[in-house]
Amino acid sequence: ESQRVDPGDGLNEIERMDKQYVFGTWSYQNEVSPTEIVDADGVYFRDAHGNRRLDFSGQLMCSNLGHSADRVADAMAEQARKGAYFAPGNTTENRAKLGKLLAEVTPGNLSKTFFSTSGTEAIEAAIKIARMYTGKYKIVSRYRSYHGSTYGSISVTGDPRRLPAEPGIPGTIKAPDPYAYGSTLDPMQSLDYIEEMLMLEGDTVAAVLVEPVVGSNGILVPPDEYLPRLKEIAHEHGALLICDEVMSGFGRTGEWFGSDLFDVTPDIMTMAKGLTGAYAPLGATIVTDEIASFFEDTMFCHGHTYSGHPVAVAAGRAAVEMYIEDNLIDHAREVGDYLGERLEELAEDHPSVGEVRGVGLFRGIELTKDSEKRVPFGVRKDKISPGKTVVDEVSGHAWSEGLYVANMINTLIIAPPLVIEPDEVDEAVAILDEALRISD
Ligand code: PLP
Repeated sequence: ESQRVDPGDGLNEIERMDKQYVFGTWSYQNEVSPTEIVDADGVYFRDAHGNRRLDFSGQLMCSNLGHSADRVADAMAEQARKGAYFAPGNTTENRAKLGKLLAEVTPGNLSKTFFSTSGTEAIEAAIKIARMYTGKYKIVSRYRSYHGSTYGSISVTGDPRRLPAEPGIPGTIKAPDPYAYGSTLDPMQSLDYIEEMLMLEGDTVAAVLVEPVVGSNGILVPPDEYLPRLKEIAHEHGALLICDEVMSGFGRTGEWFGSDLFDVTPDIMTMAKGLTGAYAPLGATIVTDEIASFFEDTMFCHGHTYSGHPVAVAAGRAAVEMYIEDNLIDHAREVGDYLGERLEELAEDHPSVGEVRGVGLFRGIELTKDSEKRVPFGVRKDKISPGKTVVDEVSGHAWSEGLYVANMINTLIIAPPLVIEPDEVDEAVAILDEALRISD
């Protein structure tokens, strides 16, 4: 039945029902209607109207394992049959083993994980841990960042999505970004700015929170010396470094974590998305030995019914084992290099491509009206509904030609499943090549 397409609004019965009864998230409200997806396989997914599309953004930059990781699906089903849920005071083999695996794959002495159900919640836990551990309350984050949508996490978010939620929670301060292409400050100057801020704020800052490689705000990779120096500066001022690896983690950059690109061990690291390859909602906040031991005799007043949900941690354990056993991190690095080369060709061929940047399978194509003056095409018209911009039109054209590519703030966000092969990269680049004619 759901195959029937109404000639009027283009929606089928299921899509119309969904539009009527489901209150949409900000990714598809108002003029964007939901599309009914019927199945998916590898890097492809198919809708109820018979269209098959290559997933060049891993949905919301989270489907790292592709759409047919049977091993993860089986682990979830097995756990659900054994017992779908036990209160967090109980444990399962999957929870204990996933905790151990995360201590092994994350850098340095990060060793103990608090589980939640999303990136947003992982950030909420990180903020509370940092405040309790340091006894201070301010959090410095950056403008071009996204950290989640609840009041705490949206207050530390820097991009315009925070505006409808302002004033948010007290004690959040924003700093400029390492954004060589579009900022008036060069990346290392933006770091001097943070140093100055920490000095002027006195001894009140609990943590500096950054995405090691910025994701939805345009795929910004800082210079090699940036993150190590940021950690030093934070520590000199008695603040912790929190790295938000929700999007940059689990092989996305060709390393396990974005922090690994810079050999930095943060004090706290947040994870979600690729942690289960998007098979189940799971967030994680891992802390160093020192922080873990502080909480041995201090109550961490925090938790959710579904903290470490047995089915979600079963997915997480199977996913991490799959990254390891299928060598997906190395694969991401190799295919990522190839992707980078192919995207550079697009930069040469299209005048509207201002900059191609990124690392591994985490790439951005920033469009510009004028490549000499780097004039942006214009940003979304208001805070909530997406006013159509040229970059939306490029994504829209790609969508109609069989390619899903997300975009934010003038930038196409490319983050395919890590299992993508070079011929699939070629297929996607050929469609993008066509779509970019719209912006040239
Ligand atoms: N942090 C980063 C870097 C993210 O990219 C996101 C989501 O896109 C979040 C946090 C929030 O995660 P979630 O949407 O799972 O709550």
